[in-house]
Amino acid sequence: MPFSNSYARLPERFYAKLPPTPVAAPRLIKWNEGLARELGLAMLDVEVLAGNRVAEGSEPLAMAYAGHQFGNFVPQLGDGRAILLGEVVDAHGIRRDIHLKGSGPTPFSRRGDGRAALGPVLREYIVAEAMAALGIPTTRALAAVATGEMVWRETPLPGAVLARVASSHVRVGTFQYFAARADVEGLRALAEYVIARHYGDAAQAPNPYRALLDRVIAAQAALVAKWMGVGFIHGVMNTDNMSIAGETIDYGPCAFMDTYHPETVFSSIDEMGRYAYANQPRMAHWNLVRLAEALLPILGADEEAARAQAQAAIDAYPALFQAQMELVFRAKLGMRQARDGDMALVQDLLDRMAAEKADFTLTFRGLSDGALPPVFGEWAAGWRARLAEEGATPQDRREAMRAVNPAFIARNHRVEEALAAANENDFAPFETLLSVLSKPYDDQPEYAAYRDAPRPEQVVLRTFCGT
Ligand code: AMP
Ligand code: MG
Repeated sequence: MPFSNSYARLPERFYAKLPPTPVAAPRLIKWNEGLARELGLAMLDVEVLAGNRVAEGSEPLAMAYAGHQFGNFVPQLGDGRAILLGEVVDAHGIRRDIHLKGSGPTPFSRRGDGRAALGPVLREYIVAEAMAALGIPTTRALAAVATGEMVWRETPLPGAVLARVASSHVRVGTFQYFAARADVEGLRALAEYVIARHYGDAAQAPNPYRALLDRVIAAQAALVAKWMGVGFIHGVMNTDNMSIAGETIDYGPCAFMDTYHPETVFSSIDEMGRYAYANQPRMAHWNLVRLAEALLPILGADEEAARAQAQAAIDAYPALFQAQMELVFRAKLGMRQARDGDMALVQDLLDRMAAEKADFTLTFRGLSDGALPPVFGEWAAGWRARLAEEGATPQDRREAMRAVNPAFIARNHRVEEALAAANENDFAPFETLLSVLSKPYDDQPEYAAYRDAPRPEQVVLRTFCGT
């Protein structure tokens, strides 16, 4: 593998260097050929993907980070069941991390076993690839390997390792790790690293660290708006699960909504609904405030100046997010120009959808195709009048809407069905689902059943992180 490692060049306190822990009987479940091509990678040996052998040039390490988990600060989390194998430069010249999840204990494991069960590994594989196909920034799944070992959760479950690709694994919590230790040099080194790797133009700004903060805030505002546009609920938006590069990361009890309701929560551990669908924009803001706080020691000449910089950056978020939401939802309704009242029209639709318990995805896809339930008739009259003002042909509008309103999302009942079969060693439903979700905007009439909302007995109300 053509490794070119940069994180391993950072000071030793940024990580623990150690190899993955070998597993008993690795067996390849899935290899992502398309992604491998993008990365310029030949098929990797299953021994490497399982962590049984360290490839030449790999400098495996577990990254150190901290994080706020459901609002409580934990000064040391870190990769407790993951290893960064190294980095490769992809076909577009972009540096990407190759990382294993479920690869055994590390100095950051605390009481965990360092392992992952097959179900959560395949869930992450499916949802990450579905998000990528939807055009939403995300970490990717390169491979899944069964370990031939059992992991012990509530019951014994088959174990697996996920090979994941990310623009980087630097998190808001990585900055918090150094801030919590008053390690200003570490903080500065991390900021310089992130600027060089992700936000090169920030280096030219009068205050590069302020520019870095601005860029991360803008990236998160855009990302969360995209989640909102497809009804995605991350489920565990802790600061350790928020990527500095602006990618969706750490798929746990995540889910796409079927029936629209703003307060929808699936995660079994989110008892207060902290990370409910409609709370996500607010929680992203909260997390970004934590990032701004962590950066305070390097944001200004003195504390007062630093606070002013942080505050100004943070105060920009609501308008940035609102602008991204407007972009997303205007496009969903086929509106090309921005007009006053557009978001009131969107909100009116969403309110009706909530009242009617409408399926989020089917409603917007239906609107694209000019099919909508009669209860929306009154709303539709206003929408049609609004569209008429723009003068686009119905054909143009239809095409534009179909390109942003998916027919297929990773519906919970389909994901659960695929995972249940995989646990019985039948990977056919997993393969079919992956294939359908790779073309979410195509009609794929032969897979029409995958568009459908769950029947009442298929509805999944709770999802689990499986750690
Ligand atoms: P997550 O909920 O996956 O974002 O993980 C939060 C923290 O718990 C991270 O530091 C993980 O590395 C750690 N963790 C989660 N599951 C395990 C496990 N099975 N063994 C060791 N550490 C774990
Ligand atoms: Mg995590």
